[in-house]
Amino acid sequence: MTKKPNILIIYTGGTIGMIKDYQTNALKAFDFSQIIQNIPEIEQLKCILTSVSFEEPIDSSNMNTFYYINIAEIIEANYKKFDGFVVLTGSDTMAFVSSTLSFMLENLAKPIIFTGSQLPIGDLRTDAKENLITSIEIACSQKNNKPIISEVCLYFEYKLYRANRTTKINADQFEAFTSMNYPPLAESGVHLNFNHYFISETTHNDDELIVRKNLVENIAILKLFPGITKSVVDAILNIENLQGIVLETYGSGNAPNETWFLESLKKAISKNIKIVNVTQCEGGRVVQGHYETSVGLKAIGVISGKDITTESAIAKLMYLLSENLSNTEFTFYFEKSLRGEISDS
Ligand code: ASP
Repeated sequence: MTKKPNILIIYTGGTIGMIKDYQTNALKAFDFSQIIQNIPEIEQLKCILTSVSFEEPIDSSNMNTFYYINIAEIIEANYKKFDGFVVLTGSDTMAFVSSTLSFMLENLAKPIIFTGSQLPIGDLRTDAKENLITSIEIACSQKNNKPIISEVCLYFEYKLYRANRTTKINADQFEAFTSMNYPPLAESGVHLNFNHYFISETTHNDDELIVRKNLVENIAILKLFPGITKSVVDAILNIENLQGIVLETYGSGNAPNETWFLESLKKAISKNIKIVNVTQCEGGRVVQGHYETSVGLKAIGVISGKDITTESAIAKLMYLLSENLSNTEFTFYFEKSLRGEISDS
């Protein structure tokens, strides 16, 4: 008889485990033991489940690098004991959190599945049960005694995505996430179908996991809009100790080619601030030099984010800025796929 997979559920908070506060009528995080009580079906799964919870579960709007490290350390401490991990977090910042974990966990050989829900698990019409049960099933799925998934993923509303490709797109509908530039890794219907071609192959073993816990927080997002003024741009670029910027540009990476704008960026780059060009569009990629309005960006050394999401660009900046890289190395690694977050072509 083959051994039942051992799965660790890590509960950090989020709607999935929330209840209504009868005084304020607002949803607030609650005790994890409530969650399992609400899903007796979980007993039927062919795996051994263990759970751990943040001492004080949080709404994911309160997520920060302290909690990222907390999640990474729980995984690190339990890595050898478990075959897979399901991380429950709020959906609001799940794309950021799971993207960052994908960079923090290097040489991963086991599934890390992030999920949550739009309605609390105790709610009659909840989406929590399907999300949680299928996430556990995915974390348990093996082929030739090896996990099918060995990367950081996000499962929501019948689709499994590579985490660092996701964006939250809807606050109301159950289909809260999308991955515009990379296809789902699995789809759940009558059957759970894995899209093997798009799944990263495991080339590591359990001993090789490296957990990167140094994250740089001195970064910002500068989102362009027609009419943006020099004082706004300069106020952001002159933030004390700033080390990196995600410059959210138009279309395929275009920005005003006015002299003051390019001069401000150039000055920031000369102070060793890394500027990464990411499109405001949900899908498609940055191609610097395709239009005249991005030629200047390329010339002054703005890094191309290609088809990376803003969430993933923030995560990658936090990670790479801590690595003591030369300018050339930084650009090389940022523009290259490290965890499948960028399409290299
Ligand atoms: N505000 C909640 C959170 O992100 C929303 C959710 O869980 O979906 O924690």
